[in-house]
Amino acid sequence: MVKPRTEEEIALLRENAILVSKTLAEVGKAVAPGVTTAKLNEVAETFIRDHGAVPSFLGFEGYPYAICTSVNDVVVHGFPSNYVLKEGDIVTADIGTVYKGYNGDSAYTFPVGEVSAETRRLLDVTKASLYKGIEAAVAGARTGDIGHAVQSYVESYGYSVVRELEGHGIGRSMHEDPGVPNYGRQGHGTRLPEGLVICIEPMVNAGGRGVYLARNGWAVHTADHRKAAHFELTVVVRKGRAEQLSTFEYIESTGNI
Ligand code: MG
Ligand code: MG
Repeated sequence: MVKPRTEEEIALLRENAILVSKTLAEVGKAVAPGVTTAKLNEVAETFIRDHGAVPSFLGFEGYPYAICTSVNDVVVHGFPSNYVLKEGDIVTADIGTVYKGYNGDSAYTFPVGEVSAETRRLLDVTKASLYKGIEAAVAGARTGDIGHAVQSYVESYGYSVVRELEGHGIGRSMHEDPGVPNYGRQGHGTRLPEGLVICIEPMVNAGGRGVYLARNGWAVHTADHRKAAHFELTVVVRKGRAEQLSTFEYIESTGNI
């Protein structure tokens, strides 16, 4: 059931959104050649707990780490590990918090050192597609309008949208109705009421849209092993223009990306 939020609830969701935004920036500062993804997990978990919150991913459906770190051909749900990041890699940090009974959830794909122009373009297009989705998330529109905006932008660059995973409503639970697919048809899907809070999160493959699940039951890889990017923000559906709750400003003001 799609449930618009009160302004009091939105204030608590905003606190979480700002905390995940700041946590992503801390992780971004740590991303560099020679750093393990386990270290990124540690940086995030420490920062979240130091702010009196809990990393929501830890134990979620049995997930064993505080955050997801998805390198290169891993689209989402990569386990932090002893893998040492190297120049030219990309790594997505996907981070969730629970604070004061509400959730935050945001993701950003970081370049590791200098990346190729081709990789830079994948990151830029994926992030821009998220903002296209946000532009479509206005009161009275439908989830298909968001999906269409993301998909048409992404495909105009020759990239593919992953269809097996999608954005979602967020509140006291991390994943609430409605599902917010990154593909779709204008005028179709769930209608978006004013005050609904959703996470929009395009997952974009440089090559084909096919993916498979790793044997650990979590990591989702591109079938062709080309790179994938993933950016996620939380917004409140408003009349005329959505209000962003999370932001990449903290990341992008560090100058490390
Ligand atoms: Mg997420
Ligand atoms: Mg999410």
